[in-house]
Amino acid sequence: MTVQFSNYMADVVATRHYLHQNPEIGLSEFNTSDYVAKQLEGLGYEVTRGLAKTGVVATLRNGTSNRSVGIRADFDALPILEETGAEYASKNPGVMHACGHDGHTAMLLGAAKILAERKNFDGVIHLIFQPAEENFGGAKIMMDDGLFEKFPCDAVFALHNEPTIPFGQFALREGPIMAAVDECKITVNGRGGHGAEPQDTADPIVCGASIIMALQTIVSRNIHPIDPTVITVGAFHAGGASNVIPERAEMLLSIRSFDPKVRDQLEERVRMIAEGQAASYGMGVTVEYQRGYNATINHKVETDFIRALAIEFAGADKVTELDRPTMGSEDFAYMLEERPGCYFFVGTQRTPSDPPLHHPRYDFNDDLLPIGASFWVELAERWLAKK
Ligand SMILES: [Zn+2]
Ligand SMILES: [Zn+2]
Repeated sequence: MTVQFSNYMADVVATRHYLHQNPEIGLSEFNTSDYVAKQLEGLGYEVTRGLAKTGVVATLRNGTSNRSVGIRADFDALPILEETGAEYASKNPGVMHACGHDGHTAMLLGAAKILAERKNFDGVIHLIFQPAEENFGGAKIMMDDGLFEKFPCDAVFALHNEPTIPFGQFALREGPIMAAVDECKITVNGRGGHGAEPQDTADPIVCGASIIMALQTIVSRNIHPIDPTVITVGAFHAGGASNVIPERAEMLLSIRSFDPKVRDQLEERVRMIAEGQAASYGMGVTVEYQRGYNATINHKVETDFIRALAIEFAGADKVTELDRPTMGSEDFAYMLEERPGCYFFVGTQRTPSDPPLHHPRYDFNDDLLPIGASFWVELAERWLAKK
């Protein structure tokens, strides 16, 4: 029984545009949370609120089986000033749904409606609406608040829209699909002075430049060539005038990896290089290293399930096996550490020049709404098929 989506399309588009117009930053999605909870209550779901503050879990039971499935959508926005010019553009200046979480939430709400009307499954469906994917790891906070104890899920699934992948194309892989991400701030403490008298100063710019160059040897000389890793120095702040040597220089790093042992090795080497280089220049350094999200690792059985379902749903030519993971990151990683499941991408690209995720002109492609919503319906009904 395939889903006839056309009857629902107008509602789901309206939901997406409402969410887009009213974006909220992670852990302060109070209006979004109310809106989502109200819709789900109206559909007859058991709605639980308060996990990770604004999180919403909606449960639907049918039949006698205790088998269960969890589907997650994130609903937080980003601190970006929108430039789409859309008539439903953000009414909250400086905050924008630039990652398509408005679309993810609208698709799952669309699926919620169809699942509740059809009741074509035997078991328990938990729809997990999650805050703060972009910043505070809302997935982990929901779990710390008892997500899987209160709502046991035999498997969990999530998708992300992707404007670099052709429209309607499913892209997935078993095993690692997204990287672990860590951040580091390095501050070199020198001694400032006149630019004409360098001998009386300790120049943190020269020392910082040397640290940045030496950091390049970690990936190329210390890590095994087969282990995917990235160290990016995304910011280098020091000084403000040509004839002044500043007191300090500051660097901000993004560090990506998959293997936990490699992750430890990266931290050890970053610290050693920063401290060793600074010592060789006779300067002090502070290294503030912060672990971010773990790597997102898909499970075999659930990935096989999604692949087979996607082939049936969209056709074999619409399903791509990713030959390597991406170096981006995702807090669904934590859910996949506790429960088996699969995280996958669905393409939304209209033209190759479509703005990427997190761009001020990015706008979720509404044409994906019927595909995503009906795919979630198929998935839940198939996972909990009546025996
Ligand atoms: Zn994002
Ligand atoms: Zn996202």
